[in-house]
Amino acid sequence: MTLDLIDVRDLVGHPGASKTESLRGTVEALGTELARVPEDLPIGGLLLLESVVEGILVSGAVEGVLQLHCARCLKEFEQVFSVPIYELFVSEPDPDADDYPLDPDGELDPEQMVRDVVGVELPFSPLCEPDCLGLCATCGGDKNLGACPGHQQIDPRWDGLEQLFKQTEH
Ligand SMILES: [Zn+2]
Ligand SMILES: [Zn+2]
Repeated sequence: MTLDLIDVRDLVGHPGASKTESLRGTVEALGTELARVPEDLPIGGLLLLESVVEGILVSGAVEGVLQLHCARCLKEFEQVFSVPIYELFVSEPDPDADDYPLDPDGELDPEQMVRDVVGVELPFSPLCEPDCLGLCATCGGDKNLGACPGHQQIDPRWDGLEQLFKQTEH
């Protein structure tokens, strides 16, 4: 399943006409290792579609849920997003412009637009909390859960070895 096409036959060629439509559907394979849009959760948002001389002007917002992994502690968490949209769909897009193509049959495919606007909003380094402490370099434990019990005391069996290291350092 992907995003539903939006029928704009009633708008094409009628500058000044407008209507609102909801985004419906899902997107596949949108995201990075640490931040992605789940393929089984719907994308939403309300769009205002306005017929202009050049084509169809789309404004509004894309909304959904991001599945994130904390860049420090790797914990998985979710975050809702709402990204503003202001894009133009034209029947013959100029390759040098950022416009999107409008299907000659009068259907507007919002998928590429959604991929682009959500793609640039994906956090490069998501954090579960702004002050996440991350993982312990010694034991790999989550430092947000408190002190690591595992290596608070050094295993007595290593005491002798440690003394040896200290001596050889000097
Ligand atoms: Zn974290
Ligand atoms: Zn530790």
